[in-house]
Amino acid sequence: MQLENLTKRYPNSAQPAVDSVSMDIAAGEMVIFVGPSGCGKSTTLKMINRLIEPTSGRIRIDGEDVTDMDPVKLRRKIGYAIQSSGLFPHMTVAENIALVPRMVGWPKSRIKARVEEMLDLVGLDPGEFRGRYPRQLSGGQQQRVGVARALAADPPVLLMDEPFGAVDPITRDHLQDELIRLQQELHKTIVFVTHDFDEAIKLGDRIAVLREQSHIAQFDTPEAILTNPADDFVSGFVGAGAALKRLNLTRVRDVEVAEFPTVTVDDPLQSIFDKLRSSSANEILLLDQRRRPYKWLRRGDLMRARGSLARAGTLVQDTVTREATLRDALEAVLTDSGGRVAVTGRRGEFIGVVDMETLMNSVHEMLEADRLAAVEAAHDLDDSRTHRTHAAQEGA
Ligand code: ADP
Repeated sequence: MQLENLTKRYPNSAQPAVDSVSMDIAAGEMVIFVGPSGCGKSTTLKMINRLIEPTSGRIRIDGEDVTDMDPVKLRRKIGYAIQSSGLFPHMTVAENIALVPRMVGWPKSRIKARVEEMLDLVGLDPGEFRGRYPRQLSGGQQQRVGVARALAADPPVLLMDEPFGAVDPITRDHLQDELIRLQQELHKTIVFVTHDFDEAIKLGDRIAVLREQSHIAQFDTPEAILTNPADDFVSGFVGAGAALKRLNLTRVRDVEVAEFPTVTVDDPLQSIFDKLRSSSANEILLLDQRRRPYKWLRRGDLMRARGSLARAGTLVQDTVTREATLRDALEAVLTDSGGRVAVTGRRGEFIGVVDMETLMNSVHEMLEADRLAAVEAAHDLDDSRTHRTHAAQEGA
């Protein structure tokens, strides 16, 4: 998708609200607009689906100029999800989701099947939710229905205007995770507006940091923006704690998961004893019949177990998957008294553990790599300065 010199002048204002934005967004890419309130994020977004008519400029989707396209046709190309879901209160969940497919004239049976499919996709049971009204849903559920509605006509492009702005932090975290999962399945071209830089880092393939009038301060990957902010304005947005934020960019699957001695509930007690005694650690992990982490067992626990595992050991409280961020893993490690967290696979089966040492090593490596990149960038800058000075001297 291309935005070409998109400009918006509201009547009676001296300055344009959006001044000639141009941007190339690849198909299947998730791009985040982030910037201070009033900088023109929403206006830019709404010009893409013509909720706001651009004063000038063009929009192309798949090479096709959609700037003058009939708005109903445009709805088929561009889904739209907003803060507080924007659901119609007098329509059921199913009617809300069916809105665009009905508008563009799908047959009834196809719409019905699509509503079910969309509810499934966003993790809501169709039987339970299709007949409800928005007021009978939690904020997070409303937001899910909002996303289902935006995706219902299967548009290649999805616009999201602070969609998770009105829900509590924990729900927001879940909705963000779900969006990442959905996107892995659907590969939509997504433009997502937020003023929350952490959200931008977590979700974006690329982030456009915007200043007033939607002037682009920097348009790059989260890694590049964190490690090489273009100027003070961008640094201000990145804010403190860049090292911690980097933990959000690295996933458990990117680090080496440590091995840990295990036994299963089917093993005879004696062999569990033997294993504990022979292993150098004074702890082992007990797995259930499906090899899922069940309990941490220490030597002392077994002494007191008196022939049964039923009451021995400490239940595994928290696990992480390979898709979890290192920040999630750190959270789990810090709250676990043993200082490590079990990593599980698709069916919950045990894969290994992440401990404090693994985390510290990978943070050190990341920071070291960042320092190197910064030094190299400074070199390049020096080189180009020297070149320019030489050229100036030769010219003189
Ligand atoms: P953001 O989404 O980044 O908070 P907006 O796109 O909503 O910013 O607004 C950008 C600028 O345009 C602001 O200065 C705002 O006051 C102005 N603006 C937004 N909507 C209108 C309107 N309908 N009429 C006049 N000015 C507007």
